[in-house]
Amino acid sequence: MYEAVVIGAGPAGSTAAYVLAKRGLKTLLLEKYKFPRHKSCAAGISVYTKNLLKELGLYSDKIILHETTKAKLTFVRYNKTYEMKSLIATSTRELFDEYLAKQAERAGAELHEEEPAYKISVGKNYVEVYTKKSTYKCKACIIACGVPEKLSSYAGIKTVYGKALAFEFDAPLSEDYDLDYTLFYYALEKDYAGYFWIFPKKDFANYGVGSWLNTIVQLKKKYGYLQKWVEAAMKTLGYWDKIPEVEKYLKEIRGAIVPVYTEAKPENMIADRVLVIGDSAGLVRHTGEGICFAIESGKLAAEAIADLFEEDKLDKESLIKYYGAKIERNILSELKYTTRIADALTYCTGVVIDLLDKEPKAVELLGKTLEHSILDNVYYEETKKLLKKHPFLLMKMLKMYLRRRKY
Ligand SMILES: Cc1cc2nc3c(=O)[nH]c(=O)nc-3n(C[C@H](O)[C@H](O)[C@H](O)COP(=O)(O)OP(=O)(O)OC[C@H]3O[C@@H](n4cnc5c(N)ncnc54)[C@H](O)[C@@H]3O)c2cc1C
Repeated sequence: MYEAVVIGAGPAGSTAAYVLAKRGLKTLLLEKYKFPRHKSCAAGISVYTKNLLKELGLYSDKIILHETTKAKLTFVRYNKTYEMKSLIATSTRELFDEYLAKQAERAGAELHEEEPAYKISVGKNYVEVYTKKSTYKCKACIIACGVPEKLSSYAGIKTVYGKALAFEFDAPLSEDYDLDYTLFYYALEKDYAGYFWIFPKKDFANYGVGSWLNTIVQLKKKYGYLQKWVEAAMKTLGYWDKIPEVEKYLKEIRGAIVPVYTEAKPENMIADRVLVIGDSAGLVRHTGEGICFAIESGKLAAEAIADLFEEDKLDKESLIKYYGAKIERNILSELKYTTRIADALTYCTGVVIDLLDKEPKAVELLGKTLEHSILDNVYYEETKKLLKKHPFLLMKMLKMYLRRRKY
């Protein structure tokens, strides 16, 4: 019998298994695929993520391919570009995830690759995790499978999240690309929430787009194929003719659901002896950044289980009191601002631009939110203070905000 079983060895699961093993619990980490495996992602590593990894003793230069110190953010339909300081590192998920899973293994967790769990069942004082190879009994189970799926429902957990989709592909950099910059292109289409990105990785880059599911469905109707839309976007941005054999690389475009936080509460992540973390719990920011809270929820979940283990206080109520409170304080207090910021950038773009033009501090804050060196609640409140200096803009923003479309 294991003391804890973690399902899924992405950043969330591997961090959880690492912390559990370090705390001396007999831990099994189950992973569907064999490492190194691809996971659709730009693998941008924020300041927040880097700090967390360092705090956990999990940081290594080996997992970083490149680091930019500045960002350029363009509102395409408004023909406006802003430059700001922004430290964004990049990796690949092949490299990053294998490294974290191996760290969990080195800390003492047992890693079973190519062994997906297909069901769990919660008994009175144990959980059973079923794979095709075996059934594993444990005292506590962590679900870290990425996109929310049915495993959580076996424990009676209903995940709450906003459905966004993002697509990415790797391709060479254009010859004139300045490696000091990460690039973000917002307002590509009217009412388009989301952005096109270029994350450089030294001798190549990751290109991608993301938006809410209903916007993607509309774009698909407009362009026929999503690839055609990405092609059109790259032509508008002037990259299509600058990247050698771009068509060949675009064919490799891959996508995945991004479960953006909307209004989930700890109750949507906790059941008797079961905790749901990372993407499986819908803990993704408005920028699509999810590695940060995958790692942090993994750490908090593992610590909670380890702390409550001796007294076997792993019932839902105790976990909500203990782990739920930490999730509220460390993660949800920030994520509560995520849709507000996304809405402002999408539906109040004109006001955002006016503010950026009038207040250099607003540009600086934007750089900090992109690199995630300040929390979104801080970003929101500080930007609101700047907006209040311009009552006309504030009124305009409120009007636009009230008229915004719901996702
Ligand atoms: C196109 C795109 C770009 C993105 N770019 C960024 C970015 O630049 N920076 C950032 O921070 N975030 C980014 N994200 C979000 C980020 O990828 C996720 O938030 C992050 O991977 C969540 O980590 P996780 O461990 O919760 O889930 P995942 O990384 O999805 O890991 C889940 C793991 O569980 C395994 N698994 C699934 N089902 C089972 C099962 N039944 N049994 C066993 N194992 C299972 C999977 O194989 C996988 O290894 C992006 C997302 C997309 C789609």
